[in-house]
Amino acid sequence: MSQSFTGSCLCKNITYRIDLPASEPVPEIVLCHCTNCKHYTGSGFSANIIVPQTSLNFTEGTPKLYLDRNDRGGQVRRTFCANCGSPLTSQPSGEDRMIVVKSGTLDDESRANCGKLSMEIYHQRKDRWTDALGQEGVQRINGMW
Ligand SMILES: [Zn+2]
Ligand SMILES: [Zn+2]
Repeated sequence: MSQSFTGSCLCKNITYRIDLPASEPVPEIVLCHCTNCKHYTGSGFSANIIVPQTSLNFTEGTPKLYLDRNDRGGQVRRTFCANCGSPLTSQPSGEDRMIVVKSGTLDDESRANCGKLSMEIYHQRKDRWTDALGQEGVQRINGMW
């Protein structure tokens, strides 16, 4: 038995599959508050799972590569769909074993099967408003406003 997770970009030109041995722990969520992730995702932070590079296979389409720099001057390989713009993966240079996958691109069922939030990186760059997530005083609506 293995655990598999599937996902796609918004337009579904690109689909992927992650196959992990059953013995591997369920991938947990890692948030990144770095400035580049804010720009890359257009959001307050990126939400990710980190999986072995060899477990990830693109099953449809090929993402476009953008070579980014981190704040230490190191290269970060970021991939995205050239058609709809969804960010898909990122990988710091020197890291060839693990790859970061944007958890929002997982299919609903696969996303539901991920583990808990386990880590927040670049915590010092966290947007102040994110402290209100899950707190009182925020209007909560199911569906659009
Ligand atoms: Zn797309
Ligand atoms: Zn980041």
